[in-house]
Amino acid sequence: MKSLRVNTGRPYDILIEKGIIPNCGEEIAKVSKAERIAVISDTNVFPIYGDTVVKSCEKAGFKVFSFTFEAGEKSKKLSTVAQMYDFLAESRITRSDLIVALGGGVTGDMAGFAAASYLRGIDFVQIPTSLLSQVDSSVGGKTGVDIHSGKNLVGAFWQPILVLIDSNTLSTLPPLYIDDGMGEVIKYGCIKDKELFETLESNNAMDIIDDIIYNCVSIKRNVVSRDELDKGERALLNFGHTIGHALEKLNNFSTLSHGQGVAAGMVMITKASEKAGITPKGTAERIEALCKKYNLPVSGNKGYSQIADAARSDKKTSGDCITLVLLNSIGDSFTKKIPVDTLADFIAE
Ligand code: MG
Repeated sequence: MKSLRVNTGRPYDILIEKGIIPNCGEEIAKVSKAERIAVISDTNVFPIYGDTVVKSCEKAGFKVFSFTFEAGEKSKKLSTVAQMYDFLAESRITRSDLIVALGGGVTGDMAGFAAASYLRGIDFVQIPTSLLSQVDSSVGGKTGVDIHSGKNLVGAFWQPILVLIDSNTLSTLPPLYIDDGMGEVIKYGCIKDKELFETLESNNAMDIIDDIIYNCVSIKRNVVSRDELDKGERALLNFGHTIGHALEKLNNFSTLSHGQGVAAGMVMITKASEKAGITPKGTAERIEALCKKYNLPVSGNKGYSQIADAARSDKKTSGDCITLVLLNSIGDSFTKKIPVDTLADFIAE
């Protein structure tokens, strides 16, 4: 088993092992004195892993209740969280009890937010089942929901007490969702780890996926431990995301996944940065080739001014400036503020 400790305000461990889900109860019992566990999952994941999780937790002595919501980003809203609150209250979950978030990013974000706010905060454990949530969203304590004005605009920083990553779940994931996660994996290589980038170039990621997950989580862990509340270095994790989010939005969050948006965003921003003489020539080409290798798009299907307009309303825009993440080289990133009005020109070819 691989394990990593995250040194946030309240430290916790991330355990990575194939086949850890059937033993989740035992692992949870090591870190929690809860009597009751509320398993929160969606209609795609619960039918596959729900029983295993419930049985394992019961075997470890917990009283287990489960709540399932309709799978998909459309469910990521306050009314679903309100249903969770009622379920938690009806299941008599107290402040010393625990929520288990079983599923992908939507489940983790929402169940985490329910944990952050129900009774002013109770413990929760993440069992991420998609590649994207295993390498990214399950670590770092960002929880939340979408509102009409935008994605993730309501939420809280709330760290889990344990993250259990079982890459066996990836075998039940549709291929598109693997590609989606690879967008974030490639991002980690770009911003912090040249070796990881080269590993992805010369291997098939899925053959060595546990090592890759470990690498990505370790990078995120280091960044988050230094900047838990997203006031500085954590911004680097947004490489490719300014354009990526804009493209997702312009495609109504339906035809382009997050990882696909990030991939196109990384290539486009790096091309722009090469043009501006900041990033050495040839860098964008390498990122482009790697994204293509993992079936990811490398350009946006929208115009530059449209993308810039959509980026303007991003929550990362502060005042008249927008913070871009750029590369000195593969594995070495930095942030640069530019006036938001110049973004369209900056990214135009
Ligand atoms: Mg992301």
